[in-house]
Amino acid sequence: MEKRFICGRCDFTAGYHYKGRQPPFANSIMLLEDCYIMKDPFSTFGGFITIGGNCSLCFKDVCVSADCSLFYTQRFCLKCAYLNLKEFPKTLQQEILSRTNWDDKS
Ligand SMILES: [Zn+2]
Ligand SMILES: [Zn+2]
Repeated sequence: MEKRFICGRCDFTAGYHYKGRQPPFANSIMLLEDCYIMKDPFSTFGGFITIGGNCSLCFKDVCVSADCSLFYTQRFCLKCAYLNLKEFPKTLQQEILSRTNWDDKS
């Protein structure tokens, strides 16, 4: 049975097969975070696609698109990354700023 992932930032939505760190259909893979995983329809040997995760601060579902989230030891939505900019290393701060030049930062 397929469940539905909806990104809390963009309109991206997709079916997913598993949420967690160890997809049962992928052999001995341990992910760094709980992810929304979909089986790779083109793979015959346990391939999968990570489509999103939870922001570790606001717990929103966010997709892995560069416009929605980033991964730095944990996943952060870009809004939380922006609000906590000082917690990130300098190079990443620039990256976050370049990704977050929206008019509305709400
Ligand atoms: Zn998104
Ligand atoms: Zn967040």
